[in-house]
Amino acid sequence: MIVIGAGLVGSAAAWHCARAGASVLIAEAGHPNIGASGQNAGSLHFQIERRFLENGERLAEEAARITAISRIAIADWAGLETALGEDLHVRRDGGLMVAETAAEVALLERKVAREQAAGLGTRLLDGDEARRIAPYLAEGIAAAGFLADEGHADPRAVTPAFVRAAERAGATLRTETEAVAIARQGGGFAVTLRHTGREETIRAARLLIAAGAWSPQVAMLANLHLPLFPVALTMNATERVAPLLPHLVQHVGRRLSMKQTHAGNILIGGGWPSRLRRGTGGAFDPALRPEPIETSRTENLRAAAATVPAVADMNLLRSWTGVTAITADQLPLVGEVPRMPGLFVAAGGSAFTLGPTFARLVARQMLEQDRAEADEALAMLSPARFEHLNGFMG
Ligand SMILES: Cc1cc2nc3c(=O)[nH]c(=O)nc-3n(C[C@H](O)[C@H](O)[C@H](O)COP(=O)(O)OP(=O)(O)OC[C@H]3O[C@@H](n4cnc5c(N)ncnc54)[C@H](O)[C@@H]3O)c2cc1C
Repeated sequence: MIVIGAGLVGSAAAWHCARAGASVLIAEAGHPNIGASGQNAGSLHFQIERRFLENGERLAEEAARITAISRIAIADWAGLETALGEDLHVRRDGGLMVAETAAEVALLERKVAREQAAGLGTRLLDGDEARRIAPYLAEGIAAAGFLADEGHADPRAVTPAFVRAAERAGATLRTETEAVAIARQGGGFAVTLRHTGREETIRAARLLIAAGAWSPQVAMLANLHLPLFPVALTMNATERVAPLLPHLVQHVGRRLSMKQTHAGNILIGGGWPSRLRRGTGGAFDPALRPEPIETSRTENLRAAAATVPAVADMNLLRSWTGVTAITADQLPLVGEVPRMPGLFVAAGGSAFTLGPTFARLVARQMLEQDRAEADEALAMLSPARFEHLNGFMG
């Protein structure tokens, strides 16, 4: 098997395949964890994300189907440190999604009702109940959805741990090795890899594209369209402070996520944009660090201080940008491409939280192990839903 991309998803899928006895090669254009997997906020958020709620009820209802995968991911994260034998700084002290205005409270109530109907254990709290659990919250917080399973982990630890586990299980990692051509051959694929200017073609029966925001370009090598779009985001970190914030904090009406790392920094993000840069050819290039947008930083910090007032007195240590990927319908793309049996994709969505689960399930499909169960769990994420885009592709 060949896995393209050594982010969280590719390295985790490689681990699952290798430990089941498959021969696995991971091709990584740069180094493990240089993509979104090493740049993200580290939130383990299982409540329905704000981005799913802000575009009307119909889309919110559609997107709520992701909670079925979230429930599986909660169980996967519970066993991950033990399975990998490493400290990933996983904290699962619960998460609050807060609301201030009456309209936000109404949105939160609908969201919590959807989650409860889907079997998530989210509880709706009023402002005082929320402040009893989280005394650091501002007086203006009128309600919160609380989910005990939420938390965070360290993005700098998780992917390297998957890579080490994959290598221990027998997978081979080739760094600075870019997939530059994909051809169908017999029942499988011939993948051309470029390393320090030299090209080599490797054959494999199964191929996984786990190249994050680059996945559409990689898929084009196989003459396939994947409707996945790069999104440039902003993150901020304060100086280290004494323990203040044991929970993950999000906001239903503002772009905001907050948590305190094991080292003491408060990470502040939540979907504020940065700007993709153009490469030498003039096209936007997700490999280039996006340009910061000053108002994103200031508005993100303003939202943080309005929610957790103690943050207003902290020094900002650093801000950074990163690129992730979303699909046309916001749901990730995970599974086998129907027109190209043997070619699998796992990309898009909040794949820090859900990536270990995507990887485990897509590996089952690739290995043909408990495949029916994996197919059922991944049905809503299958690339089959965009197969009409590939009607003219060979
Ligand atoms: C700022 C920010 C904050 C985020 N916060 C969160 C969060 O709190 N919680 C959450 O769940 N998600 C979050 N996300 C999203 C999450 O980080 C991503 O969904 C996830 O990391 C994607 O992992 P991946 O393995 O699919 O892709 P990536 O980590 O991007 O890895 C893809 C890899 O493919 C390699 N590659 C590309 N092209 C080729 C090629 N041709 N040949 C070989 N290799 C190739 C790249 O070099 C890269 O290493 C955030 C993202 C960003 C940017």
